[in-house]
Amino acid sequence: MNVSAFYRAYTQPDFTPHERERVEIRFAGLHWRADRVIQAVFENQGYRAAPMPAATRDDLMAGRELADIGQCCPASFVTGCLANFLRREAARLGADEVKRRYVYVSIGSCGPCRFGQYHQGYELALRHLGMEGMRLLLLDQSRLEQAGGGGLEVNLQLSLGVVWAILCTDALQSLEYRTRPYETTPGATDRAAADGVALLCEAFRQRPRHGGKWSALAWHLTTRHFVRALQLVARRFDEVEVDRLVPKPVVKITGEFYLQTVEGPANYDIHRWLEAEGAEVYPAAIAVWLDYLLRVSIQNLQARVAVDRHARAKLAVAKVLQRLLRWTFERMRRALDGVPHALPEQAELRALAAPYYHHRLAGGEGDMLVGKALWTKRHRAAHMICELSPYSCLPNTMSVGAMAGVLGKHPDLLYAPLEVKGDAEVHALSRCQMILTEAKKRAQEEFDAALARTGLDLAEARRRQAARPALRRATTAIPHRDVVGTGANTVLHLAAGRA
Ligand code: SF4
Repeated sequence: MNVSAFYRAYTQPDFTPHERERVEIRFAGLHWRADRVIQAVFENQGYRAAPMPAATRDDLMAGRELADIGQCCPASFVTGCLANFLRREAARLGADEVKRRYVYVSIGSCGPCRFGQYHQGYELALRHLGMEGMRLLLLDQSRLEQAGGGGLEVNLQLSLGVVWAILCTDALQSLEYRTRPYETTPGATDRAAADGVALLCEAFRQRPRHGGKWSALAWHLTTRHFVRALQLVARRFDEVEVDRLVPKPVVKITGEFYLQTVEGPANYDIHRWLEAEGAEVYPAAIAVWLDYLLRVSIQNLQARVAVDRHARAKLAVAKVLQRLLRWTFERMRRALDGVPHALPEQAELRALAAPYYHHRLAGGEGDMLVGKALWTKRHRAAHMICELSPYSCLPNTMSVGAMAGVLGKHPDLLYAPLEVKGDAEVHALSRCQMILTEAKKRAQEEFDAALARTGLDLAEARRRQAARPALRRATTAIPHRDVVGTGANTVLHLAAGRA
């Protein structure tokens, strides 16, 4: 038997430029805001494109059935989502037409986790579905320019559009999550977010085309085009009235990239569930991941300085890119009146994690899971951490193991690691609820202590809030003082200001 016959690299079938007008590019989902705006980025470049639907539990089951049952649950979710989509479309249009009509774009990377092999799972699922020949395009997450199968030209203009779309929608998502728990009219934040995404889509569709890569880069860095769009989003959020004088626990979402990013059945709809339980959610920004990727390349270059004569120059470029990324995100944040959360410093995450997790251990979130937990505590950023752990994920298992050491030294850290495997929702949510109960107590105590410390009672705090109408606007940033909760910070802010 020729064993090597079982091992072969995936060969990308052709997607030619002249097919662009009739082929639809499908891409795997982030959260809905980013998906919609990335779709606009593709359209701006002359492609037909749409995100995949949000993955469901049925998709997870299909992924397990059609591909490797032992693969990590994010891989099963996205594989099954693709398979079920193709099944539905094949039933509607016929398998041959589906193969002609769609191209599926997947991001991957090299490294020690499954992320580098998702396409093998897709390929296996396609074979089991009888859909061999369906076109999969594999892109490298760390390269801004690469071949996309001829029909898809991954150039700097497209990549910068995707990065800027992520930065803008991260900022919008953060504003949304800081608003919804305090809205006085149910549904007002969701409507403002939908309008905000529509405004951003329009801005990205109208992005001028740049032929040269330097002109594209210079334009993205200097233009106020996206800042202006976000300012319009902020004015839309001005219309959302909030009452922040409510003690709510802040819950920071961390964990594996896919599970912490998506919003829906793939992570038990944890964002909405936490809000329904009375929490303010601190979502995981995708920009933190981009910042981390740059940090990893900086670390790799630092290790090569002694053996690579170009390493110093490359290192300088990587450091500049990282600064530009953070500076651009800061611009987006300020365009939303400074309400969205700022990015944590990668150097600080690395230093905090260092006693527990080595920064060169790559795969998954690397040392960030530990670093973010300690960063949250140090900066009083949340009362509790909800960490989403995928079933069958090696890097995450290592991080959770390291977290046992962290909790030994910081027993006051409220940490809820939830294993996500699609069929243990009740167990995972009840575990989360137990820790959330403690977080609620802390938020209430902190709120009461803030009132006692300032000599205000709730009625007086409300009277002062009513006298300052700006504080009822979602876009008024409340300074973060030495307490965690938005309610307690609002009390301190009211006490510090004029009555
Ligand atoms: S980090 Fe874990 S869950 Fe995510 S792709 Fe890698 S192995 Fe899978």
